[in-house]
Amino acid sequence: MSSPVETTAQNLAADVRSGARSARAVLEEHLVVIESREDEVHAFNLVLADEARASADAVDARVANGEDPGPLAGVPVALKDNLCTRGVPTTCSSRILEGWRPPYDATVVERLVAAGAVVVGKTNLDEFAMGSSTENSAFGATHNPLDLTKVPGGSSGGSAAAVAAGFAPLALGSDTGGSIRQPAALCGVVGVKPTYGAVSRYGLVAFASSLDQIGPFSRTVADSALVLEVIGGHDRRDSTSIHEPAPDLRSVLDRGVEGLRIGIIEELSGDGLEGIAGDVRARLHEAAAALEAAGATVATTSVPSTVYGLSAYYVVAPAEASSNLARYDGVRFGLRVDAPTSGDMHAATRTAGFGDEVKRRIMLGTYALSAGYYDAYYGKSQKVRTLLADDFARAYEEFDLLLSPTAPTTAFPIGEKTADPMTMYLNDVCTIPSNLAGHPSMSVPFGVGDDGMPIGVQVLAPATGEPTMFRAAAVLEASAPPGHPAVGGSVTGPTGGATA
Ligand code: GLN
Repeated sequence: MSSPVETTAQNLAADVRSGARSARAVLEEHLVVIESREDEVHAFNLVLADEARASADAVDARVANGEDPGPLAGVPVALKDNLCTRGVPTTCSSRILEGWRPPYDATVVERLVAAGAVVVGKTNLDEFAMGSSTENSAFGATHNPLDLTKVPGGSSGGSAAAVAAGFAPLALGSDTGGSIRQPAALCGVVGVKPTYGAVSRYGLVAFASSLDQIGPFSRTVADSALVLEVIGGHDRRDSTSIHEPAPDLRSVLDRGVEGLRIGIIEELSGDGLEGIAGDVRARLHEAAAALEAAGATVATTSVPSTVYGLSAYYVVAPAEASSNLARYDGVRFGLRVDAPTSGDMHAATRTAGFGDEVKRRIMLGTYALSAGYYDAYYGKSQKVRTLLADDFARAYEEFDLLLSPTAPTTAFPIGEKTADPMTMYLNDVCTIPSNLAGHPSMSVPFGVGDDGMPIGVQVLAPATGEPTMFRAAAVLEASAPPGHPAVGGSVTGPTGGATA
């Protein structure tokens, strides 16, 4: 029997395009899974069952007419609730956006729908994407579907959980400091942060504009490749969008890693860094061995300034956020708390509308940008950013790709880190450097930890290096040890998990 959790987007789309299965039937199967587990997982802020039925029927009508609905024909997809959807609430899991309905679709949403995808719902996130566990949502935490007592990671935890639970084979998230890759690792799915500018940010509610990128979650490497081909490429509505078409990624997936030079980042691989768990380190080294066995040259290398990434990020990201979030003033969007003067109204609205973590970031960012502190904090962090780019450039003279853990540990218990923001921030130590450099990186599931929960390995590449990155990811997927039984270690690999 094949349940929704075992099918890939590629196979579903092929079936729908050929008329072997209807998009409606595919959707109904997924809605049954959502119905059975959403109450305990809480992946969604909003399930769009009726809208999804209408779009699935439209896809089927096109197939019946002899048309081709596109490469994602009838594939259910879940969208992080910070992606604008026309006429459909987009909350960023914040009270401050309650009731707001965007008047337009994000570019990525337009492109998915144009490729035949069926949007099934908007997923939960840490408020305004600030967090690493999806516990900072104004609408309650998302639970890891593989162990409901654990977090799914964050901030795109709802999207990661939706894919891991079989609610949809695909989801989109956003990644500013790790928000796609870290939850992907904790939920045992693939997650990709593309090169800055590779995917249009038009219609993504801004957190830190110089770091934000949209990317896919999927159960297989090939499915993420397909999504990037669909959503990537130039968009004139995003001024930072790269003036190139999306690279063809699926055609390189079977090229292997023969002759590639791959460096394990010493500073992030655990031996030098406190807090990287033993089981995570073990899987990383097994992943490196698998790449070596497949013909790559693997060596450990130093990228010294990666250790300053976290500190620089927690100045740059809050600084940009404090400016981006200034627009939520009770006038144009969502919530308004009435008060005698406009100043009082702004203050009352923002006090009631933002949660603690968002307020903390706004205060940190405002402080870092204020006269007298600007050079010491923001200016210095920008210098670290340059240093990091230089260090990466040096490393990529010697190596085609770099490797590190995605997250320091497997999924942690709900509530464990909420009292201490610093411990929570440490989750992003391995993922942040790529955001600061603008480089692509992705998390590939690679076995489980001592607790049986998934572990992800991060593959890093220089800007626009996605094709090479995906080649290594495909090799890792094929050689991964068995994963968590609910998601498998790999769907296509010879040793792939309990997917049978
Ligand atoms: N966890 C990081 C933060 O809280 C990254 C978030 C993200 O990538 N959106 O800022």
